[in-house]
Amino acid sequence: MAIPFQELMKNIWMQILINDIYRGKLIRGIDHVLIYAKEGKFRLSHINEDYIEEYIRSIIPEHEGYLYELEVYAEKHHIPIIEREVAQMLKVLLKIIRPKRILEVGTAIGYSALIMASSTDGDCNITTIERRKDMVVLAQENIDKTEYRDRINIIQGEAEEILPTLTGKFDFIFFDAAKGQYLEFFNLCIGLLAKRGIIMSDNVLFKGMVASDDLVIRRKKTIVKRLRKYLKYINNLEGYESCIIPIGDGVALTYKKE
Ligand code: SAH
Ligand code: MG
Repeated sequence: MAIPFQELMKNIWMQILINDIYRGKLIRGIDHVLIYAKEGKFRLSHINEDYIEEYIRSIIPEHEGYLYELEVYAEKHHIPIIEREVAQMLKVLLKIIRPKRILEVGTAIGYSALIMASSTDGDCNITTIERRKDMVVLAQENIDKTEYRDRINIIQGEAEEILPTLTGKFDFIFFDAAKGQYLEFFNLCIGLLAKRGIIMSDNVLFKGMVASDDLVIRRKKTIVKRLRKYLKYINNLEGYESCIIPIGDGVALTYKKE
C-alpha cells in the first residue's frame, strides 16, 4: 500500500503513528513514505526488518566532529547521504582494498568522500563528480575544513559528460547519483576501472521496490525498471563478479577480474 507523504501528513493520527514508530526521529530524504504492514510492524526502508537495522545502528559507534555535523546537516536538509551501516562497510572495504585512486559519482555535501578519505592512505586521491553547483560549494567548504582537502578533487558537471574526459585507472568507483543512470555510468566507467578494481553502487534496492512490484510507486517505475536491468547486467557480465548486499538502501559490489 503506497500513500503519498503529504497525504499521510494531513492525517493527524498517521503523524502520531509515524512519530510513535520512529520515536520522534525525523523521516529523512523522502517525499513518499510507503507504509507496509507486516506482522503488525510498519517499515520504512523495506530492505531489512526494522529491528535488524536498529540493532546494527545501535552498535556502530557515533561519529564525532565534522562527520557528525554533516550527518545532522544532511538529515535537516533532506540530503540522502549514505547510511551509517553503509559508511562502515565502505570503511572496511577500503582498508582491505587500499586503493590509490578513487572515483565517486554524486558528491552532495562531501560526506561519503570524507569517509573514504579518512579510510585510505595519505597517497590516495579521490575524484568526485557533482552536478549541482550549490552542493559543490558546500562540499568544498566542508572538505576544506579537514586534513583531506588536498586529496579530494570535486568536479562540477553531469557525470555522463565528465566521465568520458577522465583518464587513468581507478581502483575503486562509487556510484551514488541518479539511480536511473547506473548502467550508463557503468559503461562509461568500465575503461576507467583497474583490473581487480571494484565498483560499489548505492541504493540499488531502492526502498525495496526493486525486489517487489507490490512496493513500486507509479512515478518511480522507470527508475525501478532501470535498476533491475542494471543489477541483471552486472550480475551476468563476463569478466566481472557481482554481489548485492541488503544493507542501507541496498548496495552492489562489482569486481573486475584479471
Ligand atoms: N555520496 C553522497 C550523497 C550523494 S546524493 C554521500 O553519501 O555523502 C546524490 C548526488 O548526486 C546529488 O547531490 C545529485 O545532485 C548528484 N547527481 C545526481 N545525478 C547526477 C549526475 N548525472 N551527474 C552528477 N551528479 C549527479
Ligand atoms: Mg545513496
